[in-house]
Amino acid sequence: MHELAITQSMFDIVLQHAQEAGARKVGKINLVIGELTGIVGECVQFYLEFLSKGTVVEGAVLDIETVPAKAACGSCGETFELKGSDWACPSCGGKSLEAVAGRELFVESIEVD
Ligand SMILES: [Zn+2]
Repeated sequence: MHELAITQSMFDIVLQHAQEAGARKVGKINLVIGELTGIVGECVQFYLEFLSKGTVVEGAVLDIETVPAKAACGSCGETFELKGSDWACPSCGGKSLEAVAGRELFVESIEVD
C-alpha cells in the first residue's frame, strides 16, 4: 500500500509546480519508475485520480516510463539487465551484484495549460 504515500508526495510536487507556473490545468505528468521499486503504475494512477479531484491536476494523463533493473557485477564489472529472481552475472556467474538502475522514482516533467 505504499503507493498511496508515494502518489501523495508526487501529487504535492506536481501541484506545487502547477501553481508556480500559474497553470489552469495539468495536461500530462511524465513519471519515471524503476522496476526495483516494486511500484505498480495502475495503483499510482488510481490514487492520483482520487487525490486530484477538484484540483488543477484532475484529469491529467499519467505517462509512466519504466526503467529496467540493471546490475553491475562486483567480480568482472559486467553490466546487465536483471531478469527473474535468480540474480547472477551472465558473464562469470558471480553473485556479488550491485543495482545500478531500477530504483528511480521521480516526476520527470509536467505539461500544463
Ligand atoms: Zn561477472
